Amino acid sequence: MSSIPILKQRERQIHETGTAPFEMTCDQQSLAGSVSQRACVFCGSRVVLYPIADALHLVHGPIGCAAYTWDIRGALSSGAQLHRMSFSTDLRETEVIFGGEKKLYQALIELIDAYAPQAAFVYSTCIVGIIGDDVAAVCRRVTREKGIPVLPVHSEGFKGTKKDGYKAACDALFQLLGTGDTRDIAPVSINILGEFNIGGEAWMIRDYYQRMGVQVVSVLTGDGRVADVCRAHGAALNVVQCSGAMTFLAEMMKEKYGIPYIRASYFGIEDTAKALYDVAAHFSKDPAIQKRTEELVRAQVTAVVPELQRIRADLEGKRAAVYVGGAFKVFSLIKALRQLGMQVVVAGSQTGNADDYATLRDLCDPGTVILDDANPLELSRFVIEKRADLFIGGVKERPIAYKLGVGFCDHNHERKTPLAGFEGMLHFAREIHTTVTSPVWQFVPFRSEG
Ligand code: SF4
Repeated sequence: MSSIPILKQRERQIHETGTAPFEMTCDQQSLAGSVSQRACVFCGSRVVLYPIADALHLVHGPIGCAAYTWDIRGALSSGAQLHRMSFSTDLRETEVIFGGEKKLYQALIELIDAYAPQAAFVYSTCIVGIIGDDVAAVCRRVTREKGIPVLPVHSEGFKGTKKDGYKAACDALFQLLGTGDTRDIAPVSINILGEFNIGGEAWMIRDYYQRMGVQVVSVLTGDGRVADVCRAHGAALNVVQCSGAMTFLAEMMKEKYGIPYIRASYFGIEDTAKALYDVAAHFSKDPAIQKRTEELVRAQVTAVVPELQRIRADLEGKRAAVYVGGAFKVFSLIKALRQLGMQVVVAGSQTGNADDYATLRDLCDPGTVILDDANPLELSRFVIEKRADLFIGGVKERPIAYKLGVGFCDHNHERKTPLAGFEGMLHFAREIHTTVTSPVWQFVPFRSEG
């Protein structure tokens, strides 16, 4: 399949559609020495919880773990901004030897007194797992003394994959759920799960639903507030966007509170419209919702299609590589890129499961390379071999694209422009157009060599 040597143990995590029986391995710990693009367990938990803007987020570990700050993943808030502060217990040699519980307790007391948060999340990092601090006991003590929920997030970096971090975050959220007042929640109401408001997407999506006549009880966790999380169990339906991150929570809410959930994606016109129609269909007892949804979708599509068609004329036939965290996003990106006349030639995710990859195989054109938990070398070589004109990824894929001389679109943490919804599709198309049609790429050796 490729001219590069693939590590033997990774051979079954890479597949070229149409070439061999499809037997992909996935959902397992990264191979040592492969230099995975994945983040650690702790980073997975931060992705989910950090957008809760009125909570204190304290990283219990050495200062290096705290490098993953709001500046890297700038979830937007319409009010409180406490989540933008980065706090760490800054464990040193003394604590590694004698334990860090005392320092954690002091840090929590000091920070709660100084910032008066609505709740506090304490993230356990690798070293805490090794020295064995009883983080839960310290959290219980501070909860009693300060009267706010102080929640341990069991996210020791080494203990699994980024997905285990999502699970740890969902466990922490689940402890808050069920404690808030739900009396003013309407029967037609939803929670939006797995939307983190990186560029203001949560506000756009919330607006769609409100125009449809659907009450949004909480967004978990974009522009999140502790009080909203506490009463999220009062909603009639959970709409799960980032399925890799939030299906755990949706399942727990289904079991305990009987709240059904559906999956949704807001990337691309097709998937955004489908998400809104699916929610309308769930509340089909009220036909006015369906009617308002049709009007909304019609108006939005009419507004964006003419410019999308103009952009498509320039992008027709260009090739794209897509490598992002969750597989569900890959599906949407393939459809959105097709709408712009582009073909996806490399597609992969950090956390896809067997069902996701089977869907991806069916969705991709023959000859597409599908990757699970890839490393930079594999990504670089496949981008070159498949002659991609564009790479869509996150903060760790950006340097790969630019070093290779390929257009890049950040569809992850660092962007400031919303790419979700109908307007987001237009932003996405403009960004793709700007980067792919840049004249600078003609000087890249692998292109000029023909
Ligand atoms: S938790 Fe562990 S793997 Fe994650 S950043 Fe800290 S030291 Fe690194």
